[in-house]
Amino acid sequence: MTFAHDTEEALRSAAALVNTADDPDTLSTVQDLETFYLEQGWKGLRSGTPQELAEVRALRPRLRRMWTSEVEELVEEVNAMMREGAALPQIVRHDGLDWHLHVTTHDQPLATRMAVEAAMGLADAIRMGETDRLRLCEADDCDRVFVDLSRNRSRRYCDVTCSNRMAAAAYRARQSEEP
Ligand SMILES: [Zn+2]
Ligand SMILES: [Zn+2]
Repeated sequence: MTFAHDTEEALRSAAALVNTADDPDTLSTVQDLETFYLEQGWKGLRSGTPQELAEVRALRPRLRRMWTSEVEELVEEVNAMMREGAALPQIVRHDGLDWHLHVTTHDQPLATRMAVEAAMGLADAIRMGETDRLRLCEADDCDRVFVDLSRNRSRRYCDVTCSNRMAAAAYRARQSEEP
């Protein structure tokens, strides 16, 4: 295991958020945000307002930039996010989960918690020297981000759809080369 469970979750969730900005945008309405919140297992305060939606949407380009930036720049942004979100790390144990870190409380605005949780996951990747696991999909016409949790850091595509698509394209290319 490369990262602690909560770090993996934080990074996966941050990537999922960035990828909602894909075309078509799957975070366009308050209802979309409710669906995302439930799918990603978020808990705690949710106002369900357009303001909240706007705040969460605004996080996406910022996280995308962080995903692809050099370490020094990433560090500055991570620290800024933790300051802005007034991150307060606390070790807790609850609901059958063993000791783990909470960096914010459930009564903070959703966008703040999303930012701080993502920043904490990124901070862990930085201090473990694993930021090269923050990847952009290499498939043609795909801008999605992902976290490569494979043992040998060999993952190139965001999901099976992209890897199948690229495998099929490579197969066709080989076929057409044959006399
Ligand atoms: Zn917890
Ligand atoms: Zn892809």
